[in-house]
Amino acid sequence: MKMLRIMALLSLLMLVVSCGGTKESTGASSSKGKKYIIATDATYAPFEFQENGKYIGIDVDLITEIAKIEGFEFELKPMDFGGIIPALQSGQIDGAIAGASITDERKKSVDFSDPYYETGIVAVTNTANTTIKTGKDLEGKKLAVKNGTAGAAYVEANLKGKAEVATFKDTVSMFQAVTNNQADAAFEDYPVIAYALSKDSASKLKIGTEKLTTGNYGFMVKKGENAELITKFNEGLKKLKESGKYDEIVAKYVGKK
Ligand code: GLN
Repeated sequence: MKMLRIMALLSLLMLVVSCGGTKESTGASSSKGKKYIIATDATYAPFEFQENGKYIGIDVDLITEIAKIEGFEFELKPMDFGGIIPALQSGQIDGAIAGASITDERKKSVDFSDPYYETGIVAVTNTANTTIKTGKDLEGKKLAVKNGTAGAAYVEANLKGKAEVATFKDTVSMFQAVTNNQADAAFEDYPVIAYALSKDSASKLKIGTEKLTTGNYGFMVKKGENAELITKFNEGLKKLKESGKYDEIVAKYVGKK
């Protein structure tokens, strides 16, 4: 009898303890404690790239500082750019900072933050190339694009049926095709090719044309979801701009603008 009472008491105690525990962890995971999964491009210097096994770059520093100011935790998930919007749509990731251009087409499936960096596409050619100087010169050429990018969309909209197009999964292999003369031109964002050239004086690449488009990068979430994350990003970005920290981050990678 006594034993039974002790056992009953013990299980009551355990119930109380476990309830208490649950209550506490619910409290901790309320907006402040949620850990967001945020994707980034696997390689997109100076926005995201690895140095000594650690991810750094303008996007990585921005999201790190914004998370600090706005009080949220995140896990960075590097992936091929072409997989990012599908991963947002299927709910595998909560947000993405990947040098992603704000476009009307993308706005159908994602919500963007305020713009955080100015960009635009240029055609990248081999240093030996003398025939490509304008968008028009790209007709009849062998072109290299990166899957799912604004560059690929530009080619689809402007050069479809007028040129031979090969699709690559990352910037490195796309540039390689131009270096090896397998392609006459690749399409990349000005800040990315300008950075690559500034780091490699022996590069066989050059900027072949003026900017073919203009635009801005934005942080992305799935359309209609994670609005609180967009708000936090925008508020954090504003504070980083006001404090001068934004300029500091940009200058760390590309010098003063
Ligand atoms: N800015 C380009 C786009 O949004 C390329 C992005 C990237 O390759 N990471 O499509």
